[in-house]
Amino acid sequence: MPSSSNPLPHQVACPVCWGKSVIPVLHLPAVPVLCNRIWPTREAARDAPRGEMRLVQCLQCEHLFNAAFVPDLIDYGSDYDNTLHGSARFRAYAEELAADLLRRHNLFGKRILEIGCGKGEFLKLLCHRGNCFGVGLDPGGTPARPGFGTSDRVSFYQDSFSSKYVREGGVDLVCCRHVLEHLHRPAGLIRRIHGAVDAHAVVFFEVPNTTHTLVRGAIWDVIYEHYSYFTPTSLVRLFQSTGFDVTDLRESFAGQFLRIEARKAGPGKTGVFLPPMPCQDSRFGATKGFSELFFQRIEKARQIHEGLKASGKHAVVWGAGSKGVSFLNSLPEATMIDGVIDINPAKQGGFIAGTGHRILAPETLAGLGPGIVLVMNPVYTEEIRQTTLEMGLTLELILP
Ligand SMILES: [Zn+2]
Repeated sequence: MPSSSNPLPHQVACPVCWGKSVIPVLHLPAVPVLCNRIWPTREAARDAPRGEMRLVQCLQCEHLFNAAFVPDLIDYGSDYDNTLHGSARFRAYAEELAADLLRRHNLFGKRILEIGCGKGEFLKLLCHRGNCFGVGLDPGGTPARPGFGTSDRVSFYQDSFSSKYVREGGVDLVCCRHVLEHLHRPAGLIRRIHGAVDAHAVVFFEVPNTTHTLVRGAIWDVIYEHYSYFTPTSLVRLFQSTGFDVTDLRESFAGQFLRIEARKAGPGKTGVFLPPMPCQDSRFGATKGFSELFFQRIEKARQIHEGLKASGKHAVVWGAGSKGVSFLNSLPEATMIDGVIDINPAKQGGFIAGTGHRILAPETLAGLGPGIVLVMNPVYTEEIRQTTLEMGLTLELILP
């Protein structure tokens, strides 16, 4: 359970600017270290390794990070699955992003390198739509994983980024989505890319938008897997301090993500383009209130569960991703929650880290009989409503 005591860690250095002055934001003594790892049995899930989170914010660059992070605790094995491409809403977002990148940077027929490509869905989409040549890297990828393989246009390697993958002729787009926040040394990756690419290459990164997390109180996004929590300011700082010109920065996916585009800066060039962002003004003010907001949301979750108990109604959680796992682990005994619905077949039949809830296919809902669905991400509310209506079920959807 979260603790309200919030002592300062003894030794910290910000992974973006190396500043040593930090303020404490949140202390969680024991959370599952891998939210997106699915466990084969309830017992194994309940014994899943836990780690300590001491979320702090750098006073110099605004970056947030877990000062108690132990990278060795994390092992992204083959059971790790954080793909979101099963959702029609997410696929539509990926389509829109691919089309936008291809059009704005005229990438048709060009060469694309994706770092941390997972199952390669986005890279294959880019290459298919743009007739591009792609190289996908992921240290967690194995040839046995569905979608991992080589075609004449797209090759996948079970590896981290190194300059050898920027082959003769270079690359035109380096793409990296939802990886940077996991890395213990994010600046090291950006520096290695800087050393490998030409000035013409577009470097595109997408990360969770921490300002959104803070301002909207999206507390279920705070997970051990994420060492770093980027705000617009700290993300720009990271790229500029490693020798890039930031050419674009924007919020996307209903404000939940941040997209940054950068090019290797020429000699003496230090321009930066920063479009106005709805969340940007919050800064340290939002951090100050976040701990309070965090415990208010936990209390609200507890009250929802107490309400279920009092009425004798059962519920399911929709979404076995980070948000669902965080939510369930915030409830000491979620006895009225029968399971977690997820549309990703690879997750179904497995168990949730920490609490041991079973992951079920949407089709099991009819037989299960709970009247309530707890929706973990408001972005998917309509999709869930539509899916359950098509199954002939009228369920009450609650956003905890
Ligand atoms: Zn910093």
